[in-house]
Amino acid sequence: MTIIIGIDGLEYEYVKEFGCKDLMQKSFGKTNIEEYEEPRTIVLWSSFLAGQNLEEKIVAMGNEKMWDFALKPEETFFKHFESFKAVDVPGYNYGREQHVLEREMLKKFFAEEITVEEFDKPVFDYHRKLKEQFFEDLEKDYDLLFYYFNAADVLGHLSFGMKSKMKLIYQDMNDIAAKAAAKGEPMLILSDHGMKSVGRYGDHQEGYGFWSNSLGKDLGNPKITELAEFVANEMK
Ligand SMILES: [Zn+2]
Repeated sequence: MTIIIGIDGLEYEYVKEFGCKDLMQKSFGKTNIEEYEEPRTIVLWSSFLAGQNLEEKIVAMGNEKMWDFALKPEETFFKHFESFKAVDVPGYNYGREQHVLEREMLKKFFAEEITVEEFDKPVFDYHRKLKEQFFEDLEKDYDLLFYYFNAADVLGHLSFGMKSKMKLIYQDMNDIAAKAAAKGEPMLILSDHGMKSVGRYGDHQEGYGFWSNSLGKDLGNPKITELAEFVANEMK
């Protein structure tokens, strides 16, 4: 079974600073996303899935509509796998309801209608549920298992500058990676873009994302679109 853990907004520098060994795996580095006008989540994951830059096409849909963009399996590298399960992956089967809720809560926070704790709670609850489901699926028999986690990004938007809090979130992601690594299967960990602090808050980092793999293969500074081929050809 090939395992992919997609982690939104996982910052390379924090992974190193917090010593998250299981996120780094045997080989890790930065992707190169400099060709994108903006580090948009939906654009980057879709481009990864399709193995081509879909920025122009998705941005043309407009800010609200672009989150509905969804590729068919035959338009992605999933077609190279006989059986696969992809959970919550932007550009394929993103769980819209949860993410609409998160964006509404972000607006409420900045309108001073809710506190950071009230913002965080449903994000943590959703994350916990997803994590349990992932651990169950690790015991099943798919050719490809791809889980996407967005807590590092969503919580990071309000707290990226608060290192001790972010460290706990990164350690939790590290624990998830450790449990998956224990299966001894080929595994890719990928992030669409990094994060940078803006005071206590956070915003998407331009220019790079994060990759690591269990094979010890040094991918250098790959474009996110080069990784579909790597998964299909070298990670089975
Ligand atoms: Zn993102």
